[in-house]
Amino acid sequence: MSKEIESVCTYCGVGCDITAVVEDNKINKIYAQKDGVVSQGKLCIKGRFGYDFLDSKERITTPLIAKRFLEKNPDIYEEFKHELSEYNDKFFATNFDVAATIAGKKLKEITNKYGSHSFCAIGGARTSCENAYIFQKFTREAIGSPHVDCCARVCHAPSLGGMKPTIGEGAATNPYDDIYEAEFIIVIGSNTIEAHPIVANRFIDIEQKNNIAVIDVRETKLAKRAKYNCIIPFEANLLILNMMAYVIIKEELYDKEFVSKRTKGFEAFKESILNDPYANPEFFKQVKGYEHLSVQIANIAREYALKKSMIFWGLGVTEHIDGTKAVMAIVHLALLTGNIGKIGAGLMPLRGQNNVQGACDMGCLPYYAPDYQEPKEVGLMTPDLIDGMLNGEIKALLNMGEDITHIHPNVNKSVKAIENLELLIVQEVIFNDIASRADIIFGVKSAYEKEGVYVNAMRRLHLSEPLVESNLPDDWEVIQAINNKMGGDFSYGSSEDIWNEVREVAHRRFSGAAYYRLKRHKKRGMQWPIYHEDTPRLHLLDFRTDDGLGRFIYNQWEKRGMVKEILEDSFNKNGLKGWYLTTGRILTHYNNAAQTKQTPRLYKKHSKDILLAPKSAKGIISDRVILKSPYGESEVLEVEFVDTIKDGTLFTTFHHAKSKINALFGDESDSKVKTARFKSVKVDIINVEDVVAIS
Ligand code: SF4
Repeated sequence: MSKEIESVCTYCGVGCDITAVVEDNKINKIYAQKDGVVSQGKLCIKGRFGYDFLDSKERITTPLIAKRFLEKNPDIYEEFKHELSEYNDKFFATNFDVAATIAGKKLKEITNKYGSHSFCAIGGARTSCENAYIFQKFTREAIGSPHVDCCARVCHAPSLGGMKPTIGEGAATNPYDDIYEAEFIIVIGSNTIEAHPIVANRFIDIEQKNNIAVIDVRETKLAKRAKYNCIIPFEANLLILNMMAYVIIKEELYDKEFVSKRTKGFEAFKESILNDPYANPEFFKQVKGYEHLSVQIANIAREYALKKSMIFWGLGVTEHIDGTKAVMAIVHLALLTGNIGKIGAGLMPLRGQNNVQGACDMGCLPYYAPDYQEPKEVGLMTPDLIDGMLNGEIKALLNMGEDITHIHPNVNKSVKAIENLELLIVQEVIFNDIASRADIIFGVKSAYEKEGVYVNAMRRLHLSEPLVESNLPDDWEVIQAINNKMGGDFSYGSSEDIWNEVREVAHRRFSGAAYYRLKRHKKRGMQWPIYHEDTPRLHLLDFRTDDGLGRFIYNQWEKRGMVKEILEDSFNKNGLKGWYLTTGRILTHYNNAAQTKQTPRLYKKHSKDILLAPKSAKGIISDRVILKSPYGESEVLEVEFVDTIKDGTLFTTFHHAKSKINALFGDESDSKVKTARFKSVKVDIINVEDVVAIS
């Protein structure tokens, strides 16, 4: 007999409520209830169809030990050889207890020999809060290493980095449905229809209000429907945002009462911006091809200031060398105009993975313990950990669901770093690139097979229920077993046990979020902080800074990149060298596509990464190319010529590891939190006929 189970989608940070129709431990269908608060009764193609991975042959169903690892550790091989069975040419299979024993033994040997700081942990955010909490607790308290980081490093760490010092909280301020209450909306650096489609549905719902401005380096699908389709040069977010603040101050459109009662630092900010040679939008009159921005930016600023407004942003803002500064500039706009702490006015970073907000809340960041408390010791961020692996300081890595040799930048360098480790333990659902390089692999339950709390992009907690049963361990069970094999004494019996500890340790946000309350209010959902009541909107009376005041912290844009080249007349117009490449996701897939590509109907829709190039480049660029940067080369990419891409620029997705797109990106990263500059790299184009002709 079939049954219906309500849970939460495992893919993006929108965090849609789902209902699965399950029979004989198999999902037959996933749909959204009509009254779903997040989904509004609709799911995107990933949410509806992306569950075939559960039974995929790529699933890791037994613990695996690499033969190469055992060759290097003959004592371990001798001790456990009778517990190993042939799996394939690279791995032996074994049972959970033996794998945990080997992992604990080797980890202890390494930390005894090189010290606790030779260990690091890098996690993803597609697993529950309970697992994220145990992951950092094991690292910090059991091993004694401060080096714990998560996938926020390659996405929204700059949002936290920009919001925390200015308003005291690095999270969305309002619920998604405030879109219906806003009079004006700015969407910057977010391809929302592809990357956060169920939030985008709300933008489409209000289309007739003609009140959206989309700011991006290319024309996105949402931009075509917007009042302002504002296409800007690469690496100009901070420039544009400062210009908006300039217009608001110069034309005295700011909310004087709000600024005086709820902020500090305004006078210094005002002086800096009025004296900034790049802050007046008139500057764009000299930037060929972008002259219209001198008027358009000013008009957007005026509407934003005079109306009840919200700003949404994505990785197009954060994945730059000035991502944190750009987020601060976004916050400044809200502080100047009082567009925060109100219904229909606020700030919304559109988080990537389904639990990246939760992973940060749980302290999976080297500079924040759970609840954003100061850790005893600040650890290294992932790019520094990669350097540590290369220089031999880091010897062991616990990787929980983060495909760093595919999804992170400079993958050629990351692969070398990983090869330098003495121990790589991977906890994964599907056999992906990082798993293929592991010494010990634990196959774990997916989100659809376990209970746990997930926090979506609007701080909404969702207690997920297992849709199907699985004999695999949950992530926390793997970590607990390794810990205890090393002499530790974790004794959690369930996710709820861990969550009850979280509610004490991270009480400022979660004390009132007991499982029974999350179950009782499942349909409506609860947004943190949760005591007796929850908090749909933040900052109503005070900001969450020490003194309750918002801060202005001015950062001047530095003349560089495309704008500089246009001004100096050195910008590429028709050669094959020096193209600006940006990357992003497509509706069908999530990041490394490990799970989505297991569903044939999703895989067929986007079975390879395609390069989008401007129509004007037809004849210069051939139909098949290789991209090359100082850091590496892509594989051969097919080219599609479109009219949504500006001259001298390119776009591609990065879903398929075989395309090697992330080999093109180097170590350039946000100046404060080291988030990779994925949204801009200069590449040369090699037409594939040229390669054939040369060879
Ligand atoms: S929008 Fe995101 S959360 Fe919603 S169904 Fe699609 S992938 Fe899942």
